[in-house]
Amino acid sequence: MARTFRIAALAILTLWFGSAGPVSAAPQDRPVRAVATFSILGDLVRQVGGSHVTVATLVGPDSDAHGLSPSPADARKLAEADIVFVNGLGLEGWFDRLIRASGTRAPVVVASAGVKPIPAQDEHAHEDGDHGHGHGDHAVDPHAWQDVANVRTYVANIRDGLAKVDPAHADAYRAAAAAYLAELDALERDVRAAIARIPPERRRIITTHDAFGYFAAAYGLRFIAPQGVSTDSEASPRDVAAIIRQIRKERVPAVFLENISDPRQMQQIARESGARVGGKVYSDALSAPGGPAATYLDLMRSNLKAFDAALMPG
Ligand code: ZN
Repeated sequence: MARTFRIAALAILTLWFGSAGPVSAAPQDRPVRAVATFSILGDLVRQVGGSHVTVATLVGPDSDAHGLSPSPADARKLAEADIVFVNGLGLEGWFDRLIRASGTRAPVVVASAGVKPIPAQDEHAHEDGDHGHGHGDHAVDPHAWQDVANVRTYVANIRDGLAKVDPAHADAYRAAAAAYLAELDALERDVRAAIARIPPERRRIITTHDAFGYFAAAYGLRFIAPQGVSTDSEASPRDVAAIIRQIRKERVPAVFLENISDPRQMQQIARESGARVGGKVYSDALSAPGGPAATYLDLMRSNLKAFDAALMPG
């Protein structure tokens, strides 16, 4: 009886909405269940979704989004999701298999869709590409969120994705996205002002892996990394020796440790090159809640402070 009623109601709703969208996906009496592949993206979904969305992430704070060994719990999160957000651009090489295994029918939104990708700085990109799938596609740099302008695109994609699965709260998503875009504008102004204060000849930084290509392209800071754009492989002793020579030759003032990487190699590079360790930067993951980079805005401001402190002469 109840079931017949539900089917009849659904048929009426379907007629009513016509081709307006996936009626069955719209939850009526509970928040939308969103899954984001990694912590930075999860924060952006939270900012736009507000109280109408609960967000689960697959790769959490201080963890490496390039490599995930998916667990049954991850598949379960996806199976229960109403909508799934991925970065794309080859970041989540592990995602396709996991989503197939989960059997989820939730729509998958590629947050970076519409972003202009920059090529990977990785000199091994072509070798990896020849191996085909399994190694991730290193032809483009996946770290698009390091340019604030790209995050505007992420936010627009998130807003539109949420409005589609939950049209009842579309206005709320639009308002939250607009408010957040204003915060991104303020952040972008601060980034430009901070970099402008650093003397041009000191705008050079060493990080563990090439996560700051978009930041470099947008704001004019030069980054050098022993590990390339992915964290799939360790830098070889030859790579490390080359970096040390480069630091000495170009008088790079500081090397930075990333929250997702083993610090030992960078400490060795600092020791042998004479560059100073400029502190910790947040490349691919937020800090734990309560830490200095618990949101995307805090992450960018925290990195900026570290760059500024290490590169300003004094
Ligand atoms: Zn990365």
